[in-house]
Amino acid sequence: MTKPNASVELNAITKSYGSTTIIGDTSITINDGEFVSLLGPSGCGKSTILKMIAGLASPSTGTVSAGNEEIKGPGPDRGMVFQDHALLPWMTARGNIDFGLRSARPSLSKTERADITRTHLEQVGLTDAAERRPARLSGGMQQRVGIARAFAIDPPIMLLDEPFGALDALTRRELQLQLLNIWEASHRTVVMVTHDVDEAILLSDRVLVMSKSPEATIITDIPVNLPRPRHELSEDASVEAETTALRKRMLHLLEH
Ligand code: ADP
Repeated sequence: MTKPNASVELNAITKSYGSTTIIGDTSITINDGEFVSLLGPSGCGKSTILKMIAGLASPSTGTVSAGNEEIKGPGPDRGMVFQDHALLPWMTARGNIDFGLRSARPSLSKTERADITRTHLEQVGLTDAAERRPARLSGGMQQRVGIARAFAIDPPIMLLDEPFGALDALTRRELQLQLLNIWEASHRTVVMVTHDVDEAILLSDRVLVMSKSPEATIITDIPVNLPRPRHELSEDASVEAETTALRKRMLHLLEH
């Protein structure tokens, strides 16, 4: 079976609520296998763009497509990780991943699901917490389950809405590195919303910087040509200089 094309395209979209045009004329192309971040001030419409790709919102004008097909609603080709984890409270960590797999990939056998679930729990360091329900998991652990579930389902296109937003700095960094490892092994198409410049630089191939709403749009498309695998931000002098320059440029764009 050939791998389906997992590109994403927003073609001349706008989004209005009532008489306010939140997002002005915007076009975005995301290539198959690319990790792209949407960076911008709060309220500029980043989540709205992600929801359009997820099929949970539609543009007021213009079209959104995935794999060259216009998006009409949610589909198994696109998976989303929310900031609030969206775990089922009555199921264990293992149960949540197993349930996600059963819904999204019904052709898998019970044994296959168990294997995939085990591997992904291990990948995010949750083997020992597999039988706990969300109420007995910390915020960081819940977020890990959400990420493990999304990657276990392994949709061609992954949508991450500030996936580390609610976490403390250390947990955040640890999970960013785990996501980086998982992504560098799979090279899925990822679109991530963030307002964290360092997070965007660490993870992305490309960072799209947005202006403020109303009439928000992409003001700059910044390639991040730092070597991979990245694991950590490198201490190599030239890489460090490039990272600093990228950070400065992005912060400047956000502030002005
Ligand atoms: P961001 O993710 O960049 O913080 P959002 O995409 O969440 O921004 O929201 C963009 C703007 O659209 C915000 O000003 C928000 O208040 C507004 N908005 C979002 N959803 C709705 C809605 N259902 N009705 C009216 N306004 C909305």
